[in-house]
Amino acid sequence: MSDFESDQSGRESDLSYRFGLGSDRHRLEEGDGLILSGVKVACDLSAVAHSDGDAVLHAVADAIFGASGGADIGEHFPDDDDQFKGMDSSAIVEAAVHWALEKGWKPAQLDIVIHLERPRLSGYREKMKENLSRLLTIPVECIGLKAKSGEGLGPVGEGRAVDALAIIQLKRAEKR
Ligand code: MG
Repeated sequence: MSDFESDQSGRESDLSYRFGLGSDRHRLEEGDGLILSGVKVACDLSAVAHSDGDAVLHAVADAIFGASGGADIGEHFPDDDDQFKGMDSSAIVEAAVHWALEKGWKPAQLDIVIHLERPRLSGYREKMKENLSRLLTIPVECIGLKAKSGEGLGPVGEGRAVDALAIIQLKRAEKR
């Protein structure tokens, strides 16, 4: 593998690492639980979504696509396509990791912030990180995950939305 890659103009990049930023929001309604980072969070809310509504995994997938030159997940997984209805979002992250590997990049480090008014997520945090560690094949120690309330303000604070932000670092890998 070359240490350099070039675009059509011949401009070359010798980066060993790349960063990607992802963000996602889902509206909340009365329901029987949220799915966040692949973990079922017991509460009387559900996310309004075409897939399982996992804002964390959607933000992570967008971050991976962004860092590896892909489109956003809406293009890879259109929300008007019935084959993705109710889909486990773990498959979206797996597809993003596979996409990045084909471009010669693999996950190195991940940091996440979840904005949710209730319920508190501290009891779910370790399991969420374990799922991300498995999906990205990086150590749990390379994953940060924080939950913040909306302080009663805005859509998050009023309990009408869950937001997730993810930043990922990818490093060079052998192209698959
Ligand atoms: Mg989403």
